[in-house]
Amino acid sequence: MVLAQLGGSITRALQQMSNATIIDEKVLNECLNEITRALLQADVQFKLVRDMATNIKKIVNLDDLAAGHNKRRIIQQAVFNELCKILDPGKPSFTPRKGKPSVIMFVGLQGSGKTTTCTKYAYYHQKKGWKPALVCADTFRAGAFDQLKQNATKAKIPFYGSYTESDPVKIAVAGVETFKKENCDLIIVDTSGRHKQEAALFEEMRQVAEATKPDLVIFVMDSSIGQAAFDQAQAFKQSVAVGAVIVTKMDGHAKGGGALSAVAATKSPVIFIGTGEHMDEFEVFDVKPFVSRLLG
Ligand code: GDP
Repeated sequence: MVLAQLGGSITRALQQMSNATIIDEKVLNECLNEITRALLQADVQFKLVRDMATNIKKIVNLDDLAAGHNKRRIIQQAVFNELCKILDPGKPSFTPRKGKPSVIMFVGLQGSGKTTTCTKYAYYHQKKGWKPALVCADTFRAGAFDQLKQNATKAKIPFYGSYTESDPVKIAVAGVETFKKENCDLIIVDTSGRHKQEAALFEEMRQVAEATKPDLVIFVMDSSIGQAAFDQAQAFKQSVAVGAVIVTKMDGHAKGGGALSAVAATKSPVIFIGTGEHMDEFEVFDVKPFVSRLLG
């Protein structure tokens, strides 16, 4: 189920409720059941869905609503607000400032789209007048440096890496120092991934973070990982101070619910989404317009 389908299902459930002559407990329950089913099918974590339904019922206390109240509107608003609440951790992420050097570290599993996203993030800011730079601290995957180099060259973004040094911490530190001297204001450190959430990956991330002291750690997540999203995001959050999330491959047939789960697990906002393989297929993520669009 793609996100649009999720939105469609929720909208339909609300529409059906609206069509009922009288909105009583039964109609509300049916509507919430439909919404719950749609969210679960879109891979939103079970607990989130259950809490959301409970909250809506609490807000929309039918017994307390006088006859004159527009129950439909109140229910629709409650659904909208609860969806926004799941996607809004309540505090914004660190925002880098132009002209002041910030170190941004990217973490995520191999294949999540981390390297691609590093370049997209750099390119996005470069177009807005920043001086970004890319550091390849992934010494685990053969070809990682070449990939970053190729992307960076295409976008005319300075890069740093090594074919011979095998210690990612040394590379990260040297790269960050180099670009600080060159007055880059957005120093992006791409770290290694693994196929699974292995201890070695987390240990390496911890060391790179300790040595480079990033202003922001961005967790990159593939939107197609489904119900695994919550646990994966939480595992990363427990190892490094994840401060923001970028969800990739939102253009595919992914179930979009992972984004909601990642926010809940990391208590960090989604700041961008990846919508394709190209450098400019990258969008700022804003909760309210996103939910509005979702609900049509
Ligand atoms: P990494 O191992 O996490 O660094 O992942 P890569 O950056 O190498 O990306 C893995 C694959 O996903 C590549 O084929 C990318 O082109 C592709 N990819 C990354 N982001 C997106 C996206 O937003 N949409 C689509 N369709 N493909 C993406």
